[in-house]
Amino acid sequence: MMKITILAGDGIGPEITREAVLLLEEVANQFGHHFDFQYGKIGGIAVDEEGTPLPEKTIRLCQESDAILLGAVGGPKWDHEEPSRKPETGLLQLRKTLQLFANLRPVNVFPAILDSSPLKPEVVNGANFLIVRELTSGLYFGKPRGRKIGELGTEVIDTLYYSEFEIERILRQAFELARLREKKVTSVDKANVLESSRLWRETAERVAEGYPDVYLEHMLVDNAAMQLIREPNQFDVIVTENMFGDILSDEASMITGSLGMLPSASLGDGPGLYEPVHGSAPDIAGLNIANPLATFASVAMLLKYSLQLTKEADYVEQAIEKTLNEGYRTKDIATDKERSYTTQEIGEVVRKHLAARDSTTIGVKK
Ligand code: NAD
Repeated sequence: MMKITILAGDGIGPEITREAVLLLEEVANQFGHHFDFQYGKIGGIAVDEEGTPLPEKTIRLCQESDAILLGAVGGPKWDHEEPSRKPETGLLQLRKTLQLFANLRPVNVFPAILDSSPLKPEVVNGANFLIVRELTSGLYFGKPRGRKIGELGTEVIDTLYYSEFEIERILRQAFELARLREKKVTSVDKANVLESSRLWRETAERVAEGYPDVYLEHMLVDNAAMQLIREPNQFDVIVTENMFGDILSDEASMITGSLGMLPSASLGDGPGLYEPVHGSAPDIAGLNIANPLATFASVAMLLKYSLQLTKEADYVEQAIEKTLNEGYRTKDIATDKERSYTTQEIGEVVRKHLAARDSTTIGVKK
């Protein structure tokens, strides 16, 4: 019996997590597992119903589970809330409370949808790398922060804080993951300007000594932003601090064609949190056109990293790929000439592929 907490959140969150739960039920059904789903509130819906974006009840549910699957939080309705009542604050608090310091964002280009990337197919073809982003420190958490009225009018301050301990544990995670891949780590920093980056670079050099089989290179973040678009194939594992990772991973999503394709895992010492990289997409919420594949790929990561169900995770990934190979796409990745399918239709096709996992095609009628 494995406990999975579902936090649907706001916007398209409920639509995509509903399909993800159906997919997990299909996994349970096909492979003889039993998943116990518990549902918690987070984000705007929690502000509306409980007066806080992260109710105590939700924290408890998460702490007692083996893994957490999250849709997305936020939307224009809550944009003017004070900081402690903002939906995104709930998510930041959850990551901090569970000490989810490592955010894993794989970027994997599917040959079937090369054309949906705004970049040239020959540039993105074969790109397959992993961004490892530090998630619980840096500019988003550093203190002091705030605003005051000074001599020149309003003055604001944010603090980029890192301890050596925090830097070392994320770098170790990246080197360990590189060992399971092509054994190359690109450590991204801004060591020509920032003190925090200088410590980052020194620590990377020291940690690398323990991994002689892994090649380490350093890259300044501005160069990394350019190299990702120029030659994404050069990367294997990219490791970087919180804000740089936030920005670079959204940029990297365009290599795959859509934010709707990118999964993520946030890992610490307790239960892992799995969520698509995209936000709550309020512009398409409720229309049944959201791309559920990033959430399905997050399900595959959940199976692999938190439940150690590697074979099942592989089958989910294969089912996603076969769905794309057969031409099924939501609107965000369909070209002008292609028919697009709904969130539910894509969910159904992926489940059918999972059920028929040993055949190359399921011949679902288009
Ligand atoms: P967004 O990712 O929600 O949307 C950006 C664009 O991508 C929109 O046009 C949207 O329709 C499209 N898109 C996103 N996901 C898609 C999917 N699965 N299928 C098809 N199209 C998709 O980013 P935003 O518009 O900047 O933010 C909207 C809200 O989401 C904000 O309140 C923001 O704070 C929040 N947000 C939450 C998270 C999170 O929960 N982890 C992450 C980012 C943004």
